[in-house]
Amino acid sequence: MKFATKVIHAGIEPDPVTGAIMTPIYQTSTYKQSSPGTKQAFEYARTQNPTRTALQNNVAALENGAAAVCFGSGLAAINAICQTLNPGDEIISTNDLYGGSHRLFTKVFGRFGIKSHFVDMTDLRQIEKQITSKTKMIWIETPTNPMLRIIDIEAVCQLAKKHEVWTVVDNTFASPYLQTPLDLGADVVVHSATKYLGGHSDVIHGLVVCKEQAYANELLFVQNAAGAVPGPQDCFLVLRGIKTLHLRVQRACENARAVAQFLRYHAKVDKVYYPGFEDHEGHGIAKRQMKDFGGMVSFSLKTDTYEAALQVLSGTHYFTCAESLGGVESLIGHPATMTHGAIPKPQREAVGITDSLIRLSIGIEDADDLIADLAAALDSVC
Ligand SMILES: *Cc1c(COP(=O)(O)O)cnc(C)c1O
Repeated sequence: MKFATKVIHAGIEPDPVTGAIMTPIYQTSTYKQSSPGTKQAFEYARTQNPTRTALQNNVAALENGAAAVCFGSGLAAINAICQTLNPGDEIISTNDLYGGSHRLFTKVFGRFGIKSHFVDMTDLRQIEKQITSKTKMIWIETPTNPMLRIIDIEAVCQLAKKHEVWTVVDNTFASPYLQTPLDLGADVVVHSATKYLGGHSDVIHGLVVCKEQAYANELLFVQNAAGAVPGPQDCFLVLRGIKTLHLRVQRACENARAVAQFLRYHAKVDKVYYPGFEDHEGHGIAKRQMKDFGGMVSFSLKTDTYEAALQVLSGTHYFTCAESLGGVESLIGHPATMTHGAIPKPQREAVGITDSLIRLSIGIEDADDLIADLAAALDSVC
């Protein structure tokens, strides 16, 4: 089955009772038992729910994995993976990791004796230097946020295999339409389905896809034992969002390309960060491991001040200032005060997050309108 068919059909059958085409929202907490204690497919909805099962089967197919396990948020999914580790285990991850993952690794699992190292993952030697007998997981995120750097998934997975270490890829920014890390050697893929999979900014949801059924079983155990499960309505919304994933992401990629080109030659713009540019340091790798270059674009201003950035952020009409990404509508954000506000200035500037850096999540509106909107906002900058 090709991708565009999978999003509609994989794991999804018309309802066996009524023939309903759309997977029903099974809003029930428990199921009738034919006799007390008889094992049935569905017993209690923390353990299993048919709406959730349909979503899990669908996403497993999209990522070419053996099985998927859903959670109440992206971070709940990441948390569940960490709960399969033991005290003394170590994680190696990127130095521009998603802030919420960084907080979970250091502030929560740090207290349980799990240590995390953060390195520049575009440099394999830096990863290899941190690998010891305690290393259990290499945690990749690519493209990164908000600098849109590209990590070579296949090369990191090869290195990890050599040392018998697992590789997990946070595939939120790319979505399975653009990138399938399990095909490149990764063991586990994690998503904040809140973003491109859901795609309509109306749900918080997370999921993990495993290459091997054995690891999925460990996560299913954690899903039931710890209980951070999504409700059936949220599973329905993600399932519905996925049906147009390929169309939405393709349009977002086309719009992002147009917006990045426009910004690149604008007199008030300093740097534009977009992996689709041939002179982007990760362009060659992105071209190999992604189908297109994604819907995210970051840029800085020649007037590198917070005030100048604020003028752009308050001057747009279609780009709404908000956290999050991957929805049908375009969003604009200021990493230095929003997502990365907790990082000291010298540290964030060292990775390129200057006072004027602006991050765009490009939606599926008309590209001309998006460009006109940014042009008007940039005109207002002194
Ligand atoms: C948003 C996000 C998360 C966290 O997901 P939630 O659904 O907000 O819990 C994790 N990783 C990345 C890359 C994200 O963008």
